Amino acid sequence: MRIGLKKIIIAEHYGFCMGVKRAISIARDTMGTDDRVTILKEIVHNDAVVEEFQKAGVGQSFSIDSVENGTVIIPAHGASPDVFEKARSRGLNVVDATCPLVIRIHRIIRKLAEDGYHIVHYGDPEHDETKGIVGHAPNRVIVISDLDNLNRVKSSEGRIALTSQTTARDVDFQQIERAVKVKFPRAEVFNTICNATKQRQDAVMELAPRVDMMLIVGSRTSANSNRLALISGSICKTSYLINTADDIELKWLTESAGIIEVVGLSAGASTPDFLIDGAIERLREVACEPVEVVYPKKKAKRNTLALKNDPT
Ligand code: SF4
Repeated sequence: MRIGLKKIIIAEHYGFCMGVKRAISIARDTMGTDDRVTILKEIVHNDAVVEEFQKAGVGQSFSIDSVENGTVIIPAHGASPDVFEKARSRGLNVVDATCPLVIRIHRIIRKLAEDGYHIVHYGDPEHDETKGIVGHAPNRVIVISDLDNLNRVKSSEGRIALTSQTTARDVDFQQIERAVKVKFPRAEVFNTICNATKQRQDAVMELAPRVDMMLIVGSRTSANSNRLALISGSICKTSYLINTADDIELKWLTESAGIIEVVGLSAGASTPDFLIDGAIERLREVACEPVEVVYPKKKAKRNTLALKNDPT
């Protein structure tokens, strides 16, 4: 079984974003202040990160109702105001690790609602970020996940504004924006896709046409990792979303799969560097000759996940 891999190219932008680094750092600091710390759902959507906190003794709860005491950490995606209220009314110490860019959307939504707008929010209605956003103006936000959903927004709604989930694809949002403008020519538009998302998507679009295969490292729970995999797959047919290096299948790389000499690698905004390093290591191990790894020019510093209480 011959594997002719010669080169791995890492996308210009990949891995941890500001909001994820900040949330992990807040959670890590909180661990030192209380021995009864619970993270509401997932601090960020990555299985390895979630597992690291569990190993370090931090609790996890999928509902605020089941956090009995101590400190609760609101994750990077944020939560609805009623979650904060419930937590405080039950005497919990609340630590807010919501990404500032998500908080910015909360502010925009509240202001628009106060000003009498109905807000069309483009996003996944099941995503935690969306649920938190809706909670800031429950009777004013209409979530749409595709163009067809726009039919649900009645022309009689009055003043309309459009916002987006931080991890949406820019071209998709532009398409929604055009349709909203046709139906509501005076609609106010707020492109709230975050810059980290856009940079990672652009980098995948730039890299995918230049390689024989693309690997996106990220968990299936991560909206932005899934989006990167979708974008990658639309350009490079041999694209795979992997959670860890163990997911890499040798048959993807063997000559029977075609000529795979150059592999492109990227990772979602919640993927720690050690998982990306693991994927590189695995590819190097299985290759039949030395593999060159081309790193981006501007990657500032490595993203570590060294938890204070982590025995390793
Ligand atoms: S992807 Fe953007 S909005 Fe989400 S946590 Fe990262 S910086 Fe914040």
